[in-house]
Amino acid sequence: MGELVIKQEGTVVNRIGFHQELRDAVARQACAGNGDVIDHIVMVDIDDFGYVNSIHGLAIGDALLVEYATLLGELLPSNAKLYHFESNLFVIYLPIADKVSVIQMCDQIRLRSLSGVQVNEVLIRITVSIGVTDITADNTVDDVVVNAELALRKAKLQKNKTDFYMPADRAAYIARLNFETELRDCVIDNFRGFEIFYQPLFSTSLSMCIGCEALLRWRGSNNRIVAPAVIIPALQNVGMFNEVESWVFKIAAKQCGEWIDLTGYKEFVMNINVSPKRAAQPGLLDEIMSALEGTSTTLSNVFLELTEDSFIMVNKANMVALGELRDNGVLLAIDDFGTGYSSLGYLKNLPICELKIDRSFVRGIETSPSGREFIGTIITMAHILGFTVCVEGVETLDQARILTALNADILQGYYFSPPVHKEIMAKRFLSTITSGEKFLERFDEMRGNRLAARGLENEVDEIARS
Ligand code: C2E
Ligand code: MG
Ligand code: MG
Repeated sequence: MGELVIKQEGTVVNRIGFHQELRDAVARQACAGNGDVIDHIVMVDIDDFGYVNSIHGLAIGDALLVEYATLLGELLPSNAKLYHFESNLFVIYLPIADKVSVIQMCDQIRLRSLSGVQVNEVLIRITVSIGVTDITADNTVDDVVVNAELALRKAKLQKNKTDFYMPADRAAYIARLNFETELRDCVIDNFRGFEIFYQPLFSTSLSMCIGCEALLRWRGSNNRIVAPAVIIPALQNVGMFNEVESWVFKIAAKQCGEWIDLTGYKEFVMNINVSPKRAAQPGLLDEIMSALEGTSTTLSNVFLELTEDSFIMVNKANMVALGELRDNGVLLAIDDFGTGYSSLGYLKNLPICELKIDRSFVRGIETSPSGREFIGTIITMAHILGFTVCVEGVETLDQARILTALNADILQGYYFSPPVHKEIMAKRFLSTITSGEKFLERFDEMRGNRLAARGLENEVDEIARS
């Protein structure tokens, strides 16, 4: 956008000019020597600018930037300077302003942007995200730019918003970058530190452990176990989650085969989670088939768990892809049922065979007759639709008894066990398959298992919270 700079001479100068201005501003603060906040940097970024280019074409997009620069200039106090920083990002140097007037200016910019920019015959409405930072004497020029970018990044999370830089932002950002870099390096280094924990599934009719759910964990250099809520978004940010999901398929399928061999129980099930994005990508069937190769695991041993979003978000083509998976013998389950947007009516058309009811429906059923009736109705209707029903998040003996009475097929939850290391899974739960022990007859002993495994669970929770 060098041309833009030249056209708007005097009001909009380029990035080099901005850096020069900033250097002077930082030097002035240093001379003042008291660290008082007087100058600000305000970054204004047009949200979803790509949409403008795609809808109206690049020429209109460029013209919009020129018009918007003029419009912005009109909203600024006379001592402010406006720079075109890059693409759809403008930077305002605002000297000697208090916070209230900065906020007022930002509000005005956002409001004015909403009312639209006239480009030739077209009125284009836009939203902008704004990041603000102070210029203080103890900052370098680079610090100021990074701080403003961090504030903008926060605002961008919601869009059409103004955010201010806070000192904690920088530490959090650096920690996040370090964490993501470490995770990425570990994936490249043959999945170093990645582990799968297994949470047993119990059949109410057979009164035994019939399988487990594979849940991703990562053991960091400090030997602490990190939960998926922390690892998955970080892996997605560095574009490595696909690789890790494929790794989970492979390891879980192999493990399932070993446990089938160990117990002789051919119906053993391994539930594996699949992210909505992965579920919609082609090649999933091939990947599953190759994970099963050379193991005793067959397609009938594996349930792919997909959240409701996977079905709702997907377009028709993706739904066809999921239907094809089902037609090829892949068993699909809806995970966390009740937290998304699907209705029981909608379920009828989905290519699934199992419903996993979210734990939020289990909480309080011991004391709430309506809660019991509610989950009982979901179970009944799911059965009418021909689905197997697994209830997640069973935490107490009473809940387990009630859900058994309400005809849930499979129970899963901390009452029986949190997700555990494969050794514990084999020792505590697979041994009951071989010995033929009936778990429903020993509910209270199961409670002992749960307490014994608490240490692990706390460790995981603690990290997830941090
Ligand atoms: P999910 O698939 O619904 O897995 C169940 C989650 O509930 C697990 O959390 C488990 O530890 C927790 N949980 C089990 N029983 C109880 C209980 O009685 N009470 C409570 N409060 N929680 C219980 P976890 O392991 O932290 O996993 C969180 C989510 O991360 C999973 O939810 C799943 O959506 C995702 N995830 C885990 N591993 C993978 C993976 O390999 N691939 C993908 N795509 N997602 C994964
Ligand atoms: Mg799951
Ligand atoms: Mg779930």
